Amino acid sequence: MHGDGSISSTPDGGGPEREVFDTGMLIILAVLLFALLFALGLNLLVRCGLQQLIISAQQSGASMGLKKRMLSRIPVAVYRSPDGISTSSECPICLGEFIDGERLRVLPKCSHGFHVGCIDTWLLSHPSCPSCRASLQEVELP
Ligand SMILES: [Zn+2]
Ligand SMILES: [Zn+2]
Repeated sequence: MHGDGSISSTPDGGGPEREVFDTGMLIILAVLLFALLFALGLNLLVRCGLQQLIISAQQSGASMGLKKRMLSRIPVAVYRSPDGISTSSECPICLGEFIDGERLRVLPKCSHGFHVGCIDTWLLSHPSCPSCRASLQEVELP
């Protein structure tokens, strides 16, 4: 066993090796500090993310209405007066009559029609048809 490659082989070179050792310690400390900060930040991020998840789950689970992305999937039709016969030619939300050429949103499940502005406002807080209460939550397409 020769002490050639062992750890404390040079007893006279204490000065510079000490400095190197101190720098190494500083680097280790800095790395540890960064790791600690990183862990803290990550913890904060995870907590924020969890809160966001809970909030979004509550919003989609409870009757909080549809998202704008889903609203845009509901087809829009242009109203044409049915020539004399007036069956459901008025908007059940504002009770205003549909005018020829007006843009209506027709719900895909029950084919009830409403003014685009009226039904959009309604659906943002209620996920169902205001006329027949048909739920629109399951309509979401892939
Ligand atoms: Zn209306
Ligand atoms: Zn309906």
